[in-house]
Amino acid sequence: MHNGKTAVITGSSTGIGKSIAREFSKRGAHAVINYVGNPDAANDVVNELNRNGSFAIAIEADVSNQSEVTHMIRKAVETFGKIDVLVNNAGIEKSTPFLDKPLKDWTREIEVDLTGPFICAQAAAREMVERNIKGVIINISSVHEDIAFPGYAAYCAAKGGLRMLCRDLALELAPYGIRVLNVGPGAIATPINKKTLEDPEKRKKLEKEIPMRRIGNPEEVAKLVSFLASEAASY
Ligand code: NAD
Repeated sequence: MHNGKTAVITGSSTGIGKSIAREFSKRGAHAVINYVGNPDAANDVVNELNRNGSFAIAIEADVSNQSEVTHMIRKAVETFGKIDVLVNNAGIEKSTPFLDKPLKDWTREIEVDLTGPFICAQAAAREMVERNIKGVIINISSVHEDIAFPGYAAYCAAKGGLRMLCRDLALELAPYGIRVLNVGPGAIATPINKKTLEDPEKRKKLEKEIPMRRIGNPEEVAKLVSFLASEAASY
């Protein structure tokens, strides 16, 4: 399905991003495992994918840092010749009541969750346009691009912004044959919400709010992302 394609997945040493990298790799893509701060986890993913016969590399870059992202995209192109898919998956969240939220926390969440996807999408799209690649950019947003969540004002604002960024880029890049999409998962069991899910009471309360009455798993998001990046979803 993705034979010969190159997929850059941000924040893919853990959680949903790791599952997306596995899914692309299983379907024949070269994968760039982007990470910050934990090279061992990123190298474990790379080794796992390479053992299974694909070609993956790890590149450290903070998605909110334009020069690091430029370097990552350049290295990906040098290694694999082109970029076909960018998945803007890296994200952070921090629960703090609005009245106590320090400005620096607000700024950091907006930088990583909204400015990061802008920087990565621009760098990848420039490469795609230059090489006439009809690529795909998929942002991992959240149900909280629509649904308010007390304590998470910055996260909700960033994901809401990501929704409009996606809509704008979809129109601006369509003439180049580049598709831009958002995937907005509900609660998925990953390191980001480990604390909540390990607390039986909090988990039960959360499950009660979910129509399917269960937490999703990262593979369920990865399969959708892989489909959306494929020819099967070409229009
Ligand atoms: P996670 O914490 O396992 O994954 C986030 C990854 O992003 C981590 O590997 C982290 O190191 C990386 N990261 C953080 N800041 C970065 C930066 N500045 N530059 C590069 N990488 C950075 O959690 P996850 O649940 O797998 O989250 C992946 C995405 O899914 C996030 O965007 C998150 O908002 C979104 N999401 C998660 C859920 C959920 O319930 N788990 C629901 C909806 C949306």
